[in-house]
Order: sequence, then C-alpha cells, then structure tokens
Amino acid sequence: MKYIGAHVSASGGVENAPLNAAEINANAFALFTKNQMQWKAAPLSAKSIEAFKENCAANNLLPDYILPHDSYLINLGQPEEDTLEKSRAAFLDEMQRCEQLGLKLLNFHPGSHLGKITEEECLNLIAESINITLNKTHGVTAVIENTAGQGTNLGFKFEHLAYIIDKVEDKSRVGVCIDTCHTFASGYDFLTPEGYDQVFADFENIVGFKYLKGIHLNDSKKALATRVDRHDSIGKGFIGIEFFKRFMNDSRFDNMPIILETPDETIWDEEIEMLRKMIKK
Ligand SMILES: [Zn+2]
Ligand SMILES: [Zn+2]
Repeated sequence: MKYIGAHVSASGGVENAPLNAAEINANAFALFTKNQMQWKAAPLSAKSIEAFKENCAANNLLPDYILPHDSYLINLGQPEEDTLEKSRAAFLDEMQRCEQLGLKLLNFHPGSHLGKITEEECLNLIAESINITLNKTHGVTAVIENTAGQGTNLGFKFEHLAYIIDKVEDKSRVGVCIDTCHTFASGYDFLTPEGYDQVFADFENIVGFKYLKGIHLNDSKKALATRVDRHDSIGKGFIGIEFFKRFMNDSRFDNMPIILETPDETIWDEEIEMLRKMIKK
C-alpha cells in the first residue's frame, strides 16, 4: 500500500502537524519538530507530546509513515570543528525530540564540504556524526536524503549514500530517503521506461532497497543534471506525469512515507488524490 502525505506545518506546536495532515487526506506526513531556521528550541512540553500522539492516533497516522526533517542549519560534514560540534549537538537534540514523540525516522541532508575538505573527508565526518548520535539514542533511524548536488552539498550520487552507510556501525538504524526532484536534478534520467528501470536497478545495486525508508515526491523546475534544487508541483515540471504514474504502480515504494514537498500547498489534497488515482487496481 502507498502512504502519501506532505511536509505539513507544525506552527503553533508539533501537535498541529497531524491535524494538518488529516486535512489534506494524507496517511503519511513530514514535519519539523522545531523551527528549522534556528539552532535552539524550547524542549517539547509533556502536553504537546501527548497531544501529538493523540492527534496521530485519532487520524490513523502511524509512526512508520511519519518522516520528520531536521533543521537546515545542521551540517554533519562541517569542516570547522566548533561548528561541527554545534551541528552534532543540534542533530542529537532533533533525534531526542523524535524519541520523545515516539517517532522512528529522522530525515536529513548529509552535509556540505564548503570547499574546505575533500568529498571523502566530508563523507567520513558525516558517518562519524551519525555514529556518535546513534550511540546516544534508541529506536530512531537516521535517514540520509539524496541531494541535487547544489553548491558543495554531498549526497548527489547513490555512491555517496552507500559510502556513508558502509561506515555506520549500527546498520539497523541507518537508511535513505530518495527525493525525486534531487535525483533528477543531480543527473539520473528516469523519464523513459528504460531509464526508470536502470536508475532504480542502480539504486538497488549501489545502496539497496532494504535501506529505503521514505520518499520525497517532487517534480523539478530545473532540467536534468542542472544540480539545482527547485521543486515543482506534480506533473508541472521537467519530470512530468508519466514518471509519477510508473512510480505509483511500483511496489518497491509500498509501505513507506511518500512526502510531497511541492511548492503550492493549496493543492496538496488534489495532488494526493491524483496520485492515488494513478494506482491501477
Ligand atoms: Zn526533499
Ligand atoms: Zn529539495
């Protein structure tokens, strides 16, 4: 079964996110558990945690299909030591917030070398950051998102994801999230049936579907291999509707959160309905 939702607002408190998800008829969702543009946040209150769990349960939103996203400020491959420590502390806090909310996954962008260290050194720092955090937490899987490769961001090749996973000690708590816009913008051409089969065969060989924990389902405002990260609404961009039809009928993407991060949130309910209708009975 396909579980589809969007990255919904948690403004006013995390407990509002499941209500916003229910409003668009989602059975999966993503959220920030704190303001994504700030380093520090007040701890979650017991009341807020309780209400979050109640609102999820009341709307049949299960932790398996909830994919929290960390702050954009965090860079787990940060070359400067003091800022790396700051990122690691913030990432640990994000993981602990997920634990408190009873969530199982935490999605993050791997990190950026900022032109100061090699790709390999940066990937090593990222893996080390993940190991440090997993050692201090329980039950939450670190979900590495592939990127468009904009600027000095790593994670734009399946090999980067595989390299990091290889260096993570607890393989049971590391996974990946494929963002379809990022995959396309970074140069993977999955538009034709042959291209689609090839890209996901490569993913299976290099990373492995067993590590796939979630999807960000976005169209792309930018062309193939531009390495620019600009999401578009489903069917409106360079990826186009045929890809999404193929995707929705591919059982390799069953039973994981499929999250829209498309720009027009006023049509999320329609996008979800359209995607569900693509599924051939
Ligand atoms: Zn994404
Ligand atoms: Zn993006």
